[in-house]
Amino acid sequence: MLTQTEINELINIVGASGVATAPCMMDTYAFYMNPEVLIKDGGRWAPRPSAVVLPASAEEVRAIVQYANRSGLKVKPLSTGFGTWAAASRDRVIILDLKRMNRIIEIDVNNRIAVIEPYVRAIDLQTEVMKHGLNVHVVSCGGNHSVLASATAAWGYGLSGASMGYSGRNLLGVEWVLPTGEIYHLGSAGDCGRWFSADGPGPSVRGVMRGFQGTMGGLGVFTKCAVKLYKWDGPDRWEVTGACPRYVLTEKFPRLAFHALSFPSGQAMREAGYLMGEAELEYSQFRTPMFFMVLGLTDHNEELKAFLDSGVFQKMTRHVLVNAVVGHSEGEFAWKMKALKKILRRTRGVRLPLNVKPTAVQLRWMGRLTKYLKDPLFILRRLPFLQDLANALPLDRRQDMDAYSRMFWLLIRHANNTQGTFRPSQGMFTTLGSFDTWDLGVTQSDWIAEAKKEYINKELILDDEGDLGCGGLFEHGHLGYLEGIGLYDPKNPASVMAAGELVEKGVAASISNAMGVPIAAFGHEMNKRFGPECHHYHQWLAKIKAALDPNDASDSFFYYQTDDNE
Ligand SMILES: Cc1cc2nc3c(=O)[nH]c(=O)nc-3n(C[C@H](O)[C@H](O)[C@H](O)COP(=O)(O)OP(=O)(O)OC[C@H]3O[C@@H](n4cnc5c(N)ncnc54)[C@H](O)[C@@H]3O)c2cc1C
Repeated sequence: MLTQTEINELINIVGASGVATAPCMMDTYAFYMNPEVLIKDGGRWAPRPSAVVLPASAEEVRAIVQYANRSGLKVKPLSTGFGTWAAASRDRVIILDLKRMNRIIEIDVNNRIAVIEPYVRAIDLQTEVMKHGLNVHVVSCGGNHSVLASATAAWGYGLSGASMGYSGRNLLGVEWVLPTGEIYHLGSAGDCGRWFSADGPGPSVRGVMRGFQGTMGGLGVFTKCAVKLYKWDGPDRWEVTGACPRYVLTEKFPRLAFHALSFPSGQAMREAGYLMGEAELEYSQFRTPMFFMVLGLTDHNEELKAFLDSGVFQKMTRHVLVNAVVGHSEGEFAWKMKALKKILRRTRGVRLPLNVKPTAVQLRWMGRLTKYLKDPLFILRRLPFLQDLANALPLDRRQDMDAYSRMFWLLIRHANNTQGTFRPSQGMFTTLGSFDTWDLGVTQSDWIAEAKKEYINKELILDDEGDLGCGGLFEHGHLGYLEGIGLYDPKNPASVMAAGELVEKGVAASISNAMGVPIAAFGHEMNKRFGPECHHYHQWLAKIKAALDPNDASDSFFYYQTDDNE
C-alpha cells in the first residue's frame, strides 16, 4: 500500500488520470496467462502492485524513477504486459504502464531504421513500414507485442528470424532511464543524435543494457529505441472477405509462396533446414510440430480429436517446416523455387498440398486405407512432379485461399492467437529452447519429447504425442532453436506439479547434457542454477546491479536479486 503522500507525489508527476491504486485495477496487473509454472508456490496470482502509473514521456519516467530512489519504492516497467515477468514481484512496487508512449517517432526509409516508443506494437509498426516497402522482425507471441520490449528487454525469437535475425540483433539505439533516474542514450544517438548504431562510440554497453535474454524490466526503463528494418517486396495492402478470426484474402500475391514441407525423418528436416539456409531462400519459417499442425487446421477440440484419431497426421506430418518464400524479382523467385524443389528431392521432402482440407470422415477412411503403410507420402517423395500436380490442381479454390491466407497471417503478419494455441488444455509450459545451433534445437526437442512420455502415460499432461518442439532456423541457418512445449491442466494441481517437474528436469538436463542455456533461464532462481555453470555470470550481474542501481529502485526479481550470490 502507498501512503496518500506517496500517491500525491505520483499524481504531481503524471496527473490524477495517470495513477491507479484501486484493488480491482491492481488485480488486473497481477493476473497473467499460466503463471503457475513461474510462481514457485503454484499460485495463479502474481503479487499485487502498490500502484500503476502511466507516464507519457521520458521526462515523466525519469521523475518517477527519481522519486522511487528517494522514497524506497521500486519501479517495474511494462510495454504491453504479455507475460508474468512483467508483473511486480513484491510489495511496494509501482508498475509503469507505458501505453501512453505509443509514437512511431521516425521511419528513415533510406537507411531502413525506425525509432519508436514502448507501446508501438509490432502490428502497428509493420503496417506503417510496409507502405514504404519495408518490414520489421516480429516475435512469435504475435503482432501485439511491443517491438521495443522485445528489442531491449526480453528474448526476441520469431518466425521472420529466418531472414531478419532476432530482436537484440536488430537494436540500433536506446534511450534509457537508468535505475537512478538519469537519461542515457546508447550508441550513435548519444553522440550525434542519429540512430544507426547501438554500439559505441567507445566500448559498447549493449551487453550491460540487454545481454542475451534481456533484463526483464530489472534495470531501468527504456523509453525509445531504434530498430533495423528489412526490405519487403510483397503487398502493402490487401482485400479480405469473411470475419474475424477467419479473414480470407481475395487474391494471391506475385512472388510470394507458402509451403508446408513434410520430411521423412528428423534427420532429413535437419538437413533441409541447413540447405535452405545456405540458399537463403526462406523469408519466414516455423518448425510446426504435428499436434500444432492439426490444431491449426481445426476449429475446435472435438474436430482436433477426430483428426488425430484418424492416425493420418502422425504418419504424414511428424517433421514439418512451414515457410514463406519471397522473390524480389521474377528471376529471383523462380530461382528460389527451383532451389527449394532441388533440396526437397535431396532430402525427400514433400510440399503438402494446401488446396484441400479433408473432413473428419474422409480422414477416418484415409486412416483405414493407409493403416499398413509406413509412409503414405512415399509416392509423392518418389515422384516429385506429382507434388507440383497436386499443388496446382484446382481441387478446392476456397480451401486453397483459406490456407494461403492462414499462412499469410501467420508467417507475414504474425496475427497468431498465441493463447488460442493452447486451447486444448488452457495451460502451457515450455522448457529448454537454448538459442544456439539448429542441430542442438532438434536434439533438445527430441529430449523433451522423450521426457514427456512418462507424464503423458500417467495422464498428467495432455497427450500431444510428445514432440511440441517449436522454433526454427535463424539468420539463414546460422542460429536455431526449438523449445519444448507441453500442455497441462491449470485447474488440476497434479497436472500443474507435473508441468513444473518437467521444466525442472529440462533445466537439470540442460546442465548435465550440455544443451545450452534455456529460454526460461532468467531471474532469481535461474541465476543460482546457471551462474555457477556459466562463467559465474551472476557475479557480473551483481556488479552491474550494484553500480547502476545503488538504491535498488528497479524491481529486478526477473533479472537479478541481491541474494542470487548466496
Ligand atoms: C504465450 C507466449 C508466447 C511467447 N512467445 C515468444 C516468442 O516466441 N518469442 C519471444 O521472443 N518471446 C515470446 N514471448 C515473450 C514476450 O511476450 C515477448 O518477448 C515480447 O516480445 C515482449 O514484449 P511484450 O510487449 O510482451 O513485453 P512486456 O510483457 O511488456 O515486457 C516484457 C519484459 O520486458 C520488460 N519491459 C517491457 N517494457 C520495458 C521497457 N520499456 N523498459 C524496460 N523493461 C521493459 C518487462 O518488465 C518484462 O519483464 C511469449 C510470451 C508468451 C506469454
